[in-house]
Amino acid sequence: MDLDPIDNSMDSEDSDGSNISGAVYDEGDPWGNYDEGDFGGAVVNGLDIDNELAIYDICNNILNDRDRDDIRAFYLRIKSNMSRFNFDLMCRSFSHKMEINSLYTITRRMAVLSDVNVTQYDCCINSCLAYTGKHTELDECPYCHEPRLDKDHQPRRQFMYIPLFPRLAASFQSPDMINKLSYRANFQHTVGQIHDVFSGENYQAMKSRRVVVDGEILPHKFFSDERDIAFGLCTDGFLLFGRKRGGPSATPLLVKNYNLAPHIRTHLENLICVGVIPGPKQPKDLTSFLTPFDDECASMVKGISCFDSMSRKVFTLHAYLSQIFPFRHP
Ligand SMILES: [Zn+2]
Repeated sequence: MDLDPIDNSMDSEDSDGSNISGAVYDEGDPWGNYDEGDFGGAVVNGLDIDNELAIYDICNNILNDRDRDDIRAFYLRIKSNMSRFNFDLMCRSFSHKMEINSLYTITRRMAVLSDVNVTQYDCCINSCLAYTGKHTELDECPYCHEPRLDKDHQPRRQFMYIPLFPRLAASFQSPDMINKLSYRANFQHTVGQIHDVFSGENYQAMKSRRVVVDGEILPHKFFSDERDIAFGLCTDGFLLFGRKRGGPSATPLLVKNYNLAPHIRTHLENLICVGVIPGPKQPKDLTSFLTPFDDECASMVKGISCFDSMSRKVFTLHAYLSQIFPFRHP
């Protein structure tokens, strides 16, 4: 697999403490030069939509000053790997100068603003499977026979699924990102030459086919809109403690956005993690962990309403799973 979850040029920049503040208040701070009044007025007045719900969502998701301070503090914690203890200590130390909410409140507010809401699913204590689909009603793992719940009737282990669509939709809030996503639409295919996944026969054939979901033929064709997204899923287990073979491992589920140019699509900031299958062992039923992802893929094939900040219009975003990278045991 061509992914290296450790390699990240952004991290190397932030290893220098002086660069952390620069990242927070410059390129890492898209809210710094942001004018609430301009945004709210422009969007509502210039928006050519009749979807009242969309207008309601936009107006209610506008950031206030408190949100911006909270997000700056949260960004600082993430980029510097700050512990919860140190974060709380920092907030208390500067409480006479600024008001920052608790980490719990910040994460809840971030979930509301981003519309990224995590769903938790019970899974086997040994990570054999997730209790989804046909396994939903089981009380014990069919592979290792460990019980699902503890003596207090609480799940012994859970798997968190982080939805993909809100994060794809968020890409269309940035004109710069919209330009980057146009790589697929602008790709020029030359017959007989392979330059990218879009040179493949499968992709070229898909473009002329109507979309079919559960036997229903939909009116649109694959990739008929220039904003349609092609993405791939990468699943790859890794050892939690370096070179200790046979030790505990975990399996991240990473989505690679093929609409981005090849030289940036594997950058850490462009990979989207939809969940991490917890250790200590490799899953025996990977499909059970992918059930929520599969359901979301079906919704995205049919299309979901999304706001384009460049055209200032609501459109139907379609996203298609184009490749799945094979599972590899560490
Ligand atoms: Zn099990």
